[in-house]
Amino acid sequence: MLCVLVFSTAAGRAQTMRPDAEKKLAHDIYKEFVEIQSGYTTGATTPVAEAAAARLKAAGFPDSDIFVGGANPRKANLVVRYHGTGARKPILLLAHEDVVEAKREDWSTDPFQFIEKDGFYYGRGTGDDKAQAAVWIANLIQYRREGFRPDRDIIVALTADEEGGGPFNGVDWLLKNHRDWIDAEFALNEGGWGEEAGGKKISNDVQVSEKYVINFRFEVRNKGGHSSLPVADNAIYHLAGALERLSHFGFPLKTNEVTAAYFQKMAGIETGPVKEDLAEVAGGSQDAMRRVAAASPAWNATLRTTCVATMLEGGHALNALPQLAAATVNCRVLPEDSTEYVKSTLERLVADDQVAITVMGNPAPGPASPMRPDLLQAIRRVTDRIWPGVPTVPIMVMGATDGRYLRMAGIPTYGVQGFFMDRDDIRFHGRDERLGVQSFYEGQNFLFELVKTLSKPVN
Ligand SMILES: [Zn+2]
Repeated sequence: MLCVLVFSTAAGRAQTMRPDAEKKLAHDIYKEFVEIQSGYTTGATTPVAEAAAARLKAAGFPDSDIFVGGANPRKANLVVRYHGTGARKPILLLAHEDVVEAKREDWSTDPFQFIEKDGFYYGRGTGDDKAQAAVWIANLIQYRREGFRPDRDIIVALTADEEGGGPFNGVDWLLKNHRDWIDAEFALNEGGWGEEAGGKKISNDVQVSEKYVINFRFEVRNKGGHSSLPVADNAIYHLAGALERLSHFGFPLKTNEVTAAYFQKMAGIETGPVKEDLAEVAGGSQDAMRRVAAASPAWNATLRTTCVATMLEGGHALNALPQLAAATVNCRVLPEDSTEYVKSTLERLVADDQVAITVMGNPAPGPASPMRPDLLQAIRRVTDRIWPGVPTVPIMVMGATDGRYLRMAGIPTYGVQGFFMDRDDIRFHGRDERLGVQSFYEGQNFLFELVKTLSKPVN
């Protein structure tokens, strides 16, 4: 039984948004968060955590259920627990407090002013990730106001430093220091979104797994010499040869549980000649995979591990043979491909013992989350009720989120937001970041209903 029907005041938008008072609360928290400068290098997340804590306390949450703290005094996280009956294990609702840096001179508006213009909310973090952070807090306050009694604890964690991979990552810190505060059966996070094209809603995407990153250094060292006496054994030529071979290489095309389900869904959505190929990809056809990969860089990246040269260095003088030539090769790796596999594949491809290939840093593969039928079913039902006919599509994303830490720690994590945006105009990390006003409130309603569906007593 689906019991909550909400009528918004805007004509024609019945049942898609929360009542005005709840919309206003979400709006005010959102504005407050966006106007706090929490850039991950120059800003602080502590004021975001404190602002959220103040809102929760004002709404009657006891101090004992609210935690503010973290790896560094400027990089605090907020964790709040809303108690349920304990019949089931808690769910964790995650969002990050920090944002990518934004410079006033790059933007049309002040990135740290929350501005409503032409049907959009502008400001750094309006999309990534302060909309979801604000909605989690506003909705939790509303559950308490209406006396909602979930059958499991609902935990909200707003965490530091998701962007940029710095040393103060809040999820990592919480897992290492206070795992019990955020331990959950599964988590909901950023990473999923609503795809819109030409003003039409295409799909509500749920992120179930993500690729992980390995950076390699290709390095050639040579004794060098005077450039007037060149020899064949040249560091730059060795490196250039290696990169030339890389440029023509593609890792094997394949699907996994998540991407096969994705292509199956896309076969039902897309029209035109590619439709049939998408269905065949889901069925495992290599020929179809080749055609689909060639049709779209995004589909190519979904079907294989990719590696690409991103930086170069080498030589030390106009008139000297190079003693060093090096490149950074950035790989986006399918969850099922190991670091060792990628490295040995590159070594075989390059086939030149002058080119040393080393792994930079400590790549951390994140397993995929299982495709939980109960969760996907709940998302499908709520999606279909709010946006009839819009399919729910499981996806693997190319970027990385904090969901990786949780998945590695054994907490399956799903990216789901229900904020719809134009798929050809994604401004995360870029200038004039924005989110549609209507998208924000519809997402608020979607997440309100979804969390309720996932935590209300089953009888
Ligand atoms: Zn983000």
